[in-house]
Amino acid sequence: MHSTASDGRLTPTEVVQLALQRGLTAIALTDHDTTDGVAEAQAAAMGTGLEVIAGIEINTESDDGDVHFLGYFVDPNDAHFQVHLATLRDARLGRARRMVEKLAQLGLPLDWERVQFFAGEGAVGRPHVARALLERGYVTTLSEAFEKYIGHEGPAYVPRYRLTPEEAIAAIRAAGGVAVLAHPAAAGTIPLIPRLAAAGLDGLEVYYPEHTPEERETLLGLARQYNLVATGGSDFHAPDDPDHAPLGSIWVPPEAVEQLKERVKQTVG
Ligand code: AMP
Ligand code: ZN
Repeated sequence: MHSTASDGRLTPTEVVQLALQRGLTAIALTDHDTTDGVAEAQAAAMGTGLEVIAGIEINTESDDGDVHFLGYFVDPNDAHFQVHLATLRDARLGRARRMVEKLAQLGLPLDWERVQFFAGEGAVGRPHVARALLERGYVTTLSEAFEKYIGHEGPAYVPRYRLTPEEAIAAIRAAGGVAVLAHPAAAGTIPLIPRLAAAGLDGLEVYYPEHTPEERETLLGLARQYNLVATGGSDFHAPDDPDHAPLGSIWVPPEAVEQLKERVKQTVG
């Protein structure tokens, strides 16, 4: 799940409070390209029995297209990892600025300050540009901003920092974490699974709002075949968010946490 450390709308503390209200036993904060929300979330959960897993979401873009990864149990204090993440966040800043330039050329000028305002202290992303477009009345919903302008095929789209799937897996594992392929059926990345498994992938996100029961079965089969942990998540971003599922709305087998921990031991060992 995401927080104000990237493009979520709740602070890490609020995410934890909501997770406690919903009776969850374990959550992972997986903000885009940053672990900055993790310490606050873990502090907020202290003494409650709720386990907060330090996580990350790294979305790669290369000749393989868009391939998204979740890292679990990464060490937020790993200096080398933080340098890597800072590079990715810097690239996000340049990317968002270029999108704003492209939008101006399309006749949709925005104040860069508004994009920065929506991002706050967090890692800037397209949702912050979308909110600035909405505020100016150029679109009536956030998803309209993606459909018309900043979605992958949109005229104001700017590619991400170039990173291969193998590089993302390596970065997550070097930080002591385990790498999971995010929503492979929704992202169309199922054909990459054999190659990624060979590159050190640890798991597949099987339980996901957009996955059909049939896709879930297919992914469970692939997880077994390639010895990968079957994980899941809501990809929560905000309450009443029409584009993402509610917090706690996706059932994930509790043993996934233990299985990931086993993989962590193997990574470190
Ligand atoms: P970025 O990391 O800057 O490329 O932005 C990706 C984020 O934008 C995703 O994590 C979602 O939160 C959001 N997003 C992507 N596509 C859409 C869409 N069609 N409608 C609303 N939000 C979207
Ligand atoms: Zn997001």
